[in-house]
Amino acid sequence: MQEKGSISIHTENIFPIIKKFLYSDHEIFLRELVSNAVDATQKLKSLGQLGEFKGELGELKVKVSVDKEARTITISDHGLGMTAEEIKKYINQIAFSGATEFVEKYKEKDAAAKDQIIGQFGLGFYSAFMVAREVEIFSKSYKEETEGAHWVCDGSTEFSLETTEKSDRGTDIVLHVAEDSDEFLEPARLKGILNKYCKFLPIEIEFEGEVINQTAPIWTKQPSELTDEDYVKFYQELYPFSEPPLFWIHLNVDYPFNLTGILYFPKVKDELQFQRNKIQLYSRQVFITDEVKDVVPEFLMLLHGVIDSPDIPLNVSRSFLQADAAVRKINTYITKKVADKLAELYRKDRAGYEQKWSDIGLFVKYGMLSDEKFYDKAKDFALVQNVGGKFFTLPEYQEFVQANQKDKSEQTVVLYTTDAEAQHGFVQAAQDRGYDVLKLDGPLDSHFIGQLEQKLEKTTFKRVDADTIGKLIEKEESTESVLSDDDKTKLQELYKAAISNEQMHVQVEALSPQDAPVIITLPEFMRRMKDMQRAGGGG
Ligand code: ADP
Ligand code: MG
Repeated sequence: MQEKGSISIHTENIFPIIKKFLYSDHEIFLRELVSNAVDATQKLKSLGQLGEFKGELGELKVKVSVDKEARTITISDHGLGMTAEEIKKYINQIAFSGATEFVEKYKEKDAAAKDQIIGQFGLGFYSAFMVAREVEIFSKSYKEETEGAHWVCDGSTEFSLETTEKSDRGTDIVLHVAEDSDEFLEPARLKGILNKYCKFLPIEIEFEGEVINQTAPIWTKQPSELTDEDYVKFYQELYPFSEPPLFWIHLNVDYPFNLTGILYFPKVKDELQFQRNKIQLYSRQVFITDEVKDVVPEFLMLLHGVIDSPDIPLNVSRSFLQADAAVRKINTYITKKVADKLAELYRKDRAGYEQKWSDIGLFVKYGMLSDEKFYDKAKDFALVQNVGGKFFTLPEYQEFVQANQKDKSEQTVVLYTTDAEAQHGFVQAAQDRGYDVLKLDGPLDSHFIGQLEQKLEKTTFKRVDADTIGKLIEKEESTESVLSDDDKTKLQELYKAAISNEQMHVQVEALSPQDAPVIITLPEFMRRMKDMQRAGGGG
C-alpha cells in the first residue's frame, strides 16, 4: 500500500517558534520593517520606469516614528502599497515572499531590480511580533481605484481585514509594543538600531525630523568618481577619531558573484593594536554583521571597511553566514585583490611603499604565514630591512648576500639580529667583516624566518650571535689578532669555566682593538628551541 500527501503545519504551533527562535536579536524587527518599506519604494520606482505606474512619485522618504504614550512605533512609506487581496497574499501567507515574486516577474524587463530588492525569505514581516503584541497595517496601493486596507493581528493566527480611508499611497505599519519590549519605545534606542542597520539604505529614512542615512555610500560608486578625500572621509565616518588609513582597495566585481566594498589598511604599529571585526558586512546596503569570519580570510580580518554582497548566502536570520562554495570564492577573490593592490603599490612607488612597510609589514607577514596563495604573491613584494635601514625584496636580498658572501658555498647564509642594541657587538663584528645583517625583530619574525627557510632554496638564517658567525670569522685567517695565542687560550678557558655550558661556543678573537675580544655564541638551533620554550610553544 502506498499513500502520498502533503505535510500540514499548524500555524498556531509554528508561530511562537518563529517569534522566539527565528531571529537571535529582537532589535532586527526594525531592520526588517524598514527594509520592506525601502523595497516597496524601490518597486514603485521600478514600476514607474517600466511605465506600469504613471502617477507622480512624490515624496518617497520612509518615516519611522515612536509614540511613547500610545506605546506605538510606526514605519511609513510611500511605496507601491498593497490592496486587501495583496495583504492576504503576501502577509497572511508566511514564508511567501512578495520580494522574490517581484524579482521573478520583472527580472527580464528590469535587471537592476534583482540587486535592489532586499527581501527574499517572506519571513521578515513577522519579526514585528517579537516586540509587538499587536500589529496593524494601513495600506493603499498605487493601482488606481483601489481602497485603503486595514489589517490587524495580535500575533495569533487570527487576523481582521477591512477597507479603510487612506488618502496617500503607501503603507503604515503600526506596532503596539509589548510590555516586555519597553526598551524599543526609547527614541535613543531606535536611533541606535537605525544607525546600525539602516545607515546606508538607498531610500531616505527619516527619524525625529532628520534623515539618518546616506543613500549612496561611496562603495556603490565607481572608483573613477571618487577622490582620496572621499575615501578618507568615509573611513572616518565609519571609525570616528581614528588615524587616517594607509591606503584602500575598492572592490567591485559582478562576475561570478556580485560584490562591492572598500577595504582599508589601518595604521597600526604592533599586534596589540590590531583590531578584529572591523569589517562590516552588508547585503544590498543593509547592515548584516561585523562577524565576517567566513567571508574574509583570517589574516584580512585585520583590515577595516565594508563589504556588500547580495550573493553572500545568509540564512533567514541573516546574522549567520552559510559557509559554502560561493563564500570560498569571495574569500579567494578578496585575497587576490589585496595582493594585487600591494603589488601595485610596490611597483608604482617603491619609495612610498618602503615608507609604509613599518605599518604593513606585520600584516603582509601574517598573510604569508597563514595563506599559501598569498605567500606566492607576496614573496615578490615582501620586504626585509638591514640594520642600516636599507630595504630589499627577498630575491634582491638573496642575490645581494650571494654576491657579498665570502664563503662561496652552496648555501646562502642570511645573518640577522633580533635586537640590534643588545646584539650590537655581534652585529658590529659581522659588519666589520663585510657581512650584512638583517633586522628581524618583529613579533612574527621568528615564524617568518622559519617559513623563509622552508620556501627559499639553499638559504639558511642565522642570528648574529649564533655560532655560525664565529665559524665564518674563523675562515678568515688573513688578519692578525691583537691578542697572542697564549692570551687567547687563557681567556677562552677562563670564560668557559665561568659559563660552564658545553653548548656555548667561546671564541676569543679581537681583530682590532675596537672588537669585543670574546664572542660567546649558542648554536642557532639551541637558541631557537629556547625562544620557542619562552614563547610558550614548548617545542
Ligand atoms: P520578504 O521581504 O522577504 O519578501 P516579508 O515577510 O518581509 O518578506 O514581507 C512579505 C511581503 O509583504 C513582501 O514581500 C511584500 O510583498 C509585502 N510587504 C511587506 N511590507 C510591505 C510594505 N511596506 N509595502 C508593500 N508591501 C509590503
Ligand atoms: Mg522583508
